[in-house]
Amino acid sequence: MSPRPPPSAPVSGAAAGAARRIHLSPPHLAGTEIDHLRAVLDSGWVAPAGPAIAAFECAVGAATRFPHVLATASGTAALHLAYRVLDVAPGDEVWAPGFTFVATVAPAVQMGAVPRFLDVCPRSWTLDPGLLRAELRAAARRGRLPRVVVAVDIYGQASDLDAIAAACARYDVPVLSDSAEGLGATLRGGAAGRGARLAAFSFNGNKIVTAGGGGALASDDPVLVARARHLASHAKDPAAHYQHSATGHAYGMSSVLAAVGLAQVAVLADRVAARRAIFARYAAALADLPGLDPMPEPAWGRATHWLGAILVDPARAGTDRDEIRAALEEAGVESRPVWKPLPDQPVFRDAPVAGGAVARGLFARGLCLPSGTAMTEAEQDRVIAAIRACWRG
Ligand SMILES: *Cc1c(COP(=O)(O)O)cnc(C)c1O
Repeated sequence: MSPRPPPSAPVSGAAAGAARRIHLSPPHLAGTEIDHLRAVLDSGWVAPAGPAIAAFECAVGAATRFPHVLATASGTAALHLAYRVLDVAPGDEVWAPGFTFVATVAPAVQMGAVPRFLDVCPRSWTLDPGLLRAELRAAARRGRLPRVVVAVDIYGQASDLDAIAAACARYDVPVLSDSAEGLGATLRGGAAGRGARLAAFSFNGNKIVTAGGGGALASDDPVLVARARHLASHAKDPAAHYQHSATGHAYGMSSVLAAVGLAQVAVLADRVAARRAIFARYAAALADLPGLDPMPEPAWGRATHWLGAILVDPARAGTDRDEIRAALEEAGVESRPVWKPLPDQPVFRDAPVAGGAVARGLFARGLCLPSGTAMTEAEQDRVIAAIRACWRG
């Protein structure tokens, strides 16, 4: 048998002993995953049912402060179930910030909904409540309100759900929080996602904690979560035979993954503190560079900085985002431009929009830096040195 490669392979082409490649946000194991896995395997409950699922849902409920939680196969599955239980139908409008990952709206689009993209606030990078208020007023006058408004906790920054939910409540429009990136963030002392009718979380491998893949749908409303639970497992009616009054999905989380998730959720507070410390260290070490600004943090919440992001203004910096990304790549460091606005994605070129200049500006200048919590200070120093060198060249 050939020897297995090390878990993190050296930079390709580099001499032995060269620095390892630094990834954006690799999983950081807690060390207790194996114990939870062994318990699941010993119990024989490996399907998307059983005690590990219940325990995981309970742990997610405690972490997110939601009383009702459904564990799902992915964050995207949780979003899809949310759109189903909110009765999104073909032709309905679904409003979402344009500055997000495609999965925020993809399930609604697949259900025949029309996405409409609103701009974000420059001081939070999350959905702009003032713009939302104005757009809802105009939509009410037209007699065509959205079926659902989606807020997104971008890069671990909670949306201002108090303002967003208040704006929507006037028109009885439900709010869905895509909190896939928001787990562990706070909102006015509470948890990110609180204040939405439904919130979706992700435990994908690159998120702040992971189940190795998975998600959760959470709500204060037990009826919505019960409906989602029914749909997540093929919408089986109560009968001895297989009986269906609707078609559902195979969206349950496996108990094997729930075991990993249980170990990870237990260390969430540590991971939040570590991500914030990494971001603070970048911000301090780069503070003197003209034209470089870290992602702002509004007063209403504590961000996790799931991905630590910076903005580079070429006029003041004398360098730009793409040059810095190339320099980091050269140094064996992965970085990524911030989300490309959805209205600028080919698939959504005909989608209606409200504003978008803020999101476009962020995409022109924004870069996400490695933020994995297993990263050492020496590795962070490599990132910092490679960035600083762009100001000397
Ligand atoms: C990761 C992510 C999702 C999807 O979660 P998966 O678990 O990967 O399906 C949805 N929305 C946002 C904003 C995300 O970052």
